[in-house]
Amino acid sequence: MSKQTVIFILLLIALVLSAPLWYNSSEEDPLKPKQTGKTHETVFLTTPKGDEKATYVSNSHPQNVIFMIGDGMGLSQITAGSIAKQDGLALEKFRHIGLIKTYSTKLITDSAAGATAMATGSKTYNGAISMNVKQQNLKTILEYAEEDGWVSGVVTTATVTHATPACFYGHQPERRKVNRKLAAQFIAQDIEVLMGGGWTYFKDGPDGRDLIEEAQEKEYFVTNNIEQVGDYRPDKMLCLISPQLPPKVKERGNFLPLATKKSIEILDHPKAGFFLMVEGAQIDWRGHENKSSLLIEEMLDFDKAIAEALAFAEKDGNTLVIVTADHETGGYSINGGNKKTGEVKGKFTSDYHTATMVPVFAYGPGAESFTGVYDNTEIFFKLKHLMQVDKKNIQ
Ligand code: MG
Ligand code: ZN
Repeated sequence: MSKQTVIFILLLIALVLSAPLWYNSSEEDPLKPKQTGKTHETVFLTTPKGDEKATYVSNSHPQNVIFMIGDGMGLSQITAGSIAKQDGLALEKFRHIGLIKTYSTKLITDSAAGATAMATGSKTYNGAISMNVKQQNLKTILEYAEEDGWVSGVVTTATVTHATPACFYGHQPERRKVNRKLAAQFIAQDIEVLMGGGWTYFKDGPDGRDLIEEAQEKEYFVTNNIEQVGDYRPDKMLCLISPQLPPKVKERGNFLPLATKKSIEILDHPKAGFFLMVEGAQIDWRGHENKSSLLIEEMLDFDKAIAEALAFAEKDGNTLVIVTADHETGGYSINGGNKKTGEVKGKFTSDYHTATMVPVFAYGPGAESFTGVYDNTEIFFKLKHLMQVDKKNIQ
């Protein structure tokens, strides 16, 4: 063996032995959780019906929670977005993933019962806004958080009084024709941020009140244009971008990612934790319309909002981000396309929702608690335990 060969072999051995020193696995996985629970535990909590309910949670407790709902966002909607985007969705960075069963008192849920289940832990009838089958109010996770001193916000690409957002702050026996009542219920609460459409429902109503004026009296910064807010950071903000339903993403532009970013900026307090709900509402609407390419545009817009939430959570280290859906819409499937061009050939089997399970993605302290297959109501119990907001019921 020549001298050079010996040196070469020795160098090779040194390189292999030192591998653990220079191979940094956190570089390969940029979203590796900074804080994870050491053990899991099964916790028994009392449901609003009085039943003992077992749920599986970790011992980590986040300071902030960003809860994101892609309305109608099933696996095909996500896959279509991934094919179209080509360089990977923000959603693909999550490492803790589960599946939820979305049924209400019917096999196929609507968005009101779906959001009620996740916000309050109760399965209810379609159309109910955080009320149970006896039409009694159910306390929401946001209301628990507010009562415990957290600050909170709700952001949506629907009207702010639409079923999904309303289920976090309002209570109504039937979702239709209650925009004004829900706007009044919002004003009666003390939620720091509300962004979406529905200016009309806050202006002068048949009850003789001007809820925009009342919001200003309660020290909300009120605007109809998120882009004009710039670097200004008010303590409370009401942003209503349209008189009624907000337009499609092509017309409303970057509203959702910007609103997500601005809400986090407003709610990120040194002294209080925050709970923020963000909804990509129009994935569902394009599913009802059976418009595959427009659905993908809404999916990608929602993914940009997810990227904003993740960027904050990664920097902060104490924020739990959950992304899920209330149900799948359209019985959507991908029957062809082209990975190179990002083309998707989508087909629909329905113009309504389906009963297919939907995914849950989790990142941050407590994320491990969201793996597995479980009912949508479990989300509430897991959050309530992780957030430690129910002082009376903490064991
Ligand atoms: Mg919705
Ligand atoms: Zn729908």
